[in-house]
Amino acid sequence: LTATELAAVRADFPLLTRTVRDGKPLIYLDSAATSQKPECVIDAEQDFYLRRNAAVHRGAHALAEEATEAYEQARAAVATLVGADTDEIVWTKNATEGINLLAYAFSNASLGRGQAAAERYRLGPGDEIVVTEAEHHANLVPWQELCARTGATLRWLGVTDEGRIDLDTLDVITERTRVVAFTHVSNVTGAISPVRDIVAAARAYGALVVLDACQSVPHLPVDLHGLGVDFAVFSGHKMLGPTGIGALYGRRELLEALPPFGTGGSMVEVVTMTETTFAAPPQRFEAGTQMVAQTVGLHAAADYLSELGMDAVAAHEAELTAHLLSGIAQVDGVQVLGPTDPVERVGVVAFTVEGVHPHDVGQLLDDAGVAVRVGHHCAQPLHRRLGAPSSARASVGVHTTTGDLDTFCDALGRVRDFFVGR
Ligand code: PMP
Repeated sequence: LTATELAAVRADFPLLTRTVRDGKPLIYLDSAATSQKPECVIDAEQDFYLRRNAAVHRGAHALAEEATEAYEQARAAVATLVGADTDEIVWTKNATEGINLLAYAFSNASLGRGQAAAERYRLGPGDEIVVTEAEHHANLVPWQELCARTGATLRWLGVTDEGRIDLDTLDVITERTRVVAFTHVSNVTGAISPVRDIVAAARAYGALVVLDACQSVPHLPVDLHGLGVDFAVFSGHKMLGPTGIGALYGRRELLEALPPFGTGGSMVEVVTMTETTFAAPPQRFEAGTQMVAQTVGLHAAADYLSELGMDAVAAHEAELTAHLLSGIAQVDGVQVLGPTDPVERVGVVAFTVEGVHPHDVGQLLDDAGVAVRVGHHCAQPLHRRLGAPSSARASVGVHTTTGDLDTFCDALGRVRDFFVGR
């Protein structure tokens, strides 16, 4: 982005004009946790309630028709952004719900309550699910629980000392593997996963591939068809959209065979007192009244990102990532978790400061108006693997400037003086 374009982007985010801690300009470096929202997203959601609010599908009145149209147009916009077909996008409340939906759909097949087509999802003892040591708990715990329900076994790909998925451990994927679930981009190290190698290994044994695209969709051009994954999840609130809306992508024929998770209204065809036939996807997975206003907000976010162009977003953030890593490298006693080569990662940078607890790091930065995340970032196994119980994490967004990062690095430079007295 040129300086003028970046200034225009910043002007789109009302929250960035506020101050914190006695008048300090807010430097928001916590986009990996949740992104700030451009005004068009806030307006779109408000406009829906002001002018078009109605329950979607099967309404006989004009408003219901308009609301349904808005709901389905949002699906189409999001599908286009991520390289999917419209009916391959299922609305969920967030990525976590998308993974749980899948994991429970597998359970339902295993309980023998699915259609015949659902056989391919049946799991039991002897079957294996493969994840990685780099996963957010959202892409780990649901699979642990699925194993507990079905008797399947959980295995995982390792992580190198540099925080990359260790391709030397790919032989964990075998003829017993039924599902391989892994993150596209780590929410701790920012490392971009070797998707093609992992997909090829899974394909060799006919295993289904589930991609956690939470940290890639907001920052990189993502083409789900091109990546060749079977399922993917992402969250609206991390990609400039509202909270309460996310998506599960599934290849059409796979969604058609997948048993439902939530059941009730809106997901059925014919219901008798004893039996029910289910609607086709994506409706089969959208039981009950849906988060329509949030889909409309997410539509505006997808349009906003598309208009900037995901290549331009990625290029801007790549510059920021390089600037951030080199700035941190100038500060004594700071250890970055994950690859130090900016080419291998996005602008999510977790780090530890020698002799200072991450909460103290976060507090000193906060005093300077800089918002970062501290803790284990819902990735305890990865922190354990990298030898850090917790860390602080700075993450950029499309509105971040190199000036923001310089303020952050200046404040980081004062941390050890303040707490260690050097
Ligand atoms: N996976 C990754 C990689 C994430 O960064 C996050 C959010 N921190 C999640 C999954 C879960 O997203 P949500 O809380 O929106 O469901």
